[in-house]
Amino acid sequence: MSGLGIVLPGSLRAAVREFLAEQLSAGSFEPRCDSWLSGFSPQFSRALAARGWVAMTWPREYGGHERSELERLTVNEELLAAGAPVAAHWFADRQVGPGLLRHGTPGQRARFLPAIARGECFFAIGMSEPDTGSDLASVRTTATRADAGWRVTGTKLWTSHAHRSHYLLALVRTSHPAGAARHAGLSQLIIDLNAPGVHVRPVPFLDGEHHFNEVVLDDVPVSEDALLGREGEGWAQVTGELAHERSGPERFLSTFPLLAELARQQSHRGQPELGALLAELATLRQLSRQVAERLQAGEAPTAEAALVKDLGTRFENRVIDVTRRVAGIEPDPLSAEPLARLLADAVLHAPAFTLRGGTSEIMRGIVARAVLPR
Ligand SMILES: Cc1cc2nc3c(=O)[nH]c(=O)nc-3n(C[C@H](O)[C@H](O)[C@H](O)COP(=O)(O)OP(=O)(O)OC[C@H]3O[C@@H](n4cnc5c(N)ncnc54)[C@H](O)[C@@H]3O)c2cc1C
Repeated sequence: MSGLGIVLPGSLRAAVREFLAEQLSAGSFEPRCDSWLSGFSPQFSRALAARGWVAMTWPREYGGHERSELERLTVNEELLAAGAPVAAHWFADRQVGPGLLRHGTPGQRARFLPAIARGECFFAIGMSEPDTGSDLASVRTTATRADAGWRVTGTKLWTSHAHRSHYLLALVRTSHPAGAARHAGLSQLIIDLNAPGVHVRPVPFLDGEHHFNEVVLDDVPVSEDALLGREGEGWAQVTGELAHERSGPERFLSTFPLLAELARQQSHRGQPELGALLAELATLRQLSRQVAERLQAGEAPTAEAALVKDLGTRFENRVIDVTRRVAGIEPDPLSAEPLARLLADAVLHAPAFTLRGGTSEIMRGIVARAVLPR
């Protein structure tokens, strides 16, 4: 802590490590790979919020802490490196809150932001649909005007944690403007997941874990004040979020607990492959930090964010390959040996790394369009 009461990143990092050590010794969590998407613990999110480590950069007026992006990055790096269960608040903290600050009405901000900042209000993201993933503009979920708002009908798919979140931030079609590009006429609606007509059905993971869902919206009544931003501007709003979504440390630290466990074992020290991974990690951190600085400056580094995601998720997979080669072990979720347990976690979750948040092919297309002459 400095004399001005500002916690600088170095001491902030130490404070987060101390908190994590306390939580670990209290048995509040077990380090897991991919904890930012799979480790859902409302209690842990509330404990973080009580320390001021949720909604860190938001205005105090809305329950935030007015800290810098760099400080937020520092906290998140430590949480991910420790494999801590941060999924409950992750989407709301990363993209819903910033979306509300940018596009929300004063009423929406007052209603949702302080509750998110306290770790009491969780959001799921409703973009993908059965035939809509990479080609997001093809969403077919439709909101039709009704007396006091809309009636929404359609199906969202791969919706992470919809079964334990309070709201869904959904991209829906509100109109088909004649002659306009199909990106026009899309809007973002905040849908209460307990509203009549909402049916949340599990889509089990490889290991049976209930992580994502199919969310069927059957003539769901949605009030006028559920519209986020402007009607028909959903495409611009959603794509504006993507640089935030793709460039953070969660795009290269999902398998860090495995790498750390490998490096902790004396017998693997000095392995050239391990050294190469650590050097690559340093480069990815640098790239991600530069994108964070540009985002804070109000820029939209879309191609650089896509690069972080593509390189970062490849790195996450390489950690698994190197661990298998260097340690010569097989994944075992029930092993007493942490390395075999973490390897099992990583292997089971790895197929998702390069898909979620936009596939590698789509990321490379974005980078290619940015760097190749037209
Ligand atoms: C663990 C996990 C969690 C998720 N959570 C959510 C969530 O909470 N909310 C949500 O809305 N979505 C979520 N998703 C969905 C995710 O965003 C989509 O899976 C992703 O956008 C890809 O869409 P798709 O699965 O429909 O694949 P498709 O778009 O059908 O792609 C299939 C294949 O074709 C390739 N391809 C498609 N178009 C092109 C092209 N133009 N050029 C080259 N190749 C192409 C892709 O790269 C891919 O290999 C999640 C996914 C995963 C794996």
